[in-house]
Amino acid sequence: MYTKISEYNSVIKNSQIDKNDFDFAISVIKSLQNELESYTEKGSGSFLAAIYDENRNIIAKCANTVVNDNCSNSHAEINVIKAAEQKLNTYDLSAYNLSIYITAEPCMMCLGAILWSGIKNVYYGVPSEYVEEITGYDEGFKQNWIKEFSKRGIRVYGNIEPELGKSVLKKYINDGKKIYKPKR
Ligand SMILES: [Zn+2]
Repeated sequence: MYTKISEYNSVIKNSQIDKNDFDFAISVIKSLQNELESYTEKGSGSFLAAIYDENRNIIAKCANTVVNDNCSNSHAEINVIKAAEQKLNTYDLSAYNLSIYITAEPCMMCLGAILWSGIKNVYYGVPSEYVEEITGYDEGFKQNWIKEFSKRGIRVYGNIEPELGKSVLKKYINDGKKIYKPKR
């Protein structure tokens, strides 16, 4: 697959990225965005995440299931981390050099979950400012999180295929699907 230079330059990142890893990240994020509707049709929320090992084998893939579970913390990232830890039978994923791919930037809760999991690389689609603008979700307060992740040896690459991701979120809203959040 050929990656345009402009696409590479628009990535939000805290370290250099290998071109092959970037091309792979684009293909995973694209496929997650394209698959998302098949999950939301079954009542899932508008986010999907997958965890891959260093050989690019998928370990787990989960959508947001806040509404289906009646659980405010059933975000895609939390669900997929739980699934990976159960599959690998460990609470510490750091030995596996895993990557998480997410259709949108993690919220403040999921940043914590990623930190405690031992995941080494984070790739995401739509930045939070656009998620909030399009959906009305509150993504929390996350000052300097990408730099903080860097201090802890976690590589972050975001804003991958953002236009595709924004269009998927807009469709979710236009279809009248549920925005799940506490009343303020
Ligand atoms: Zn979250």
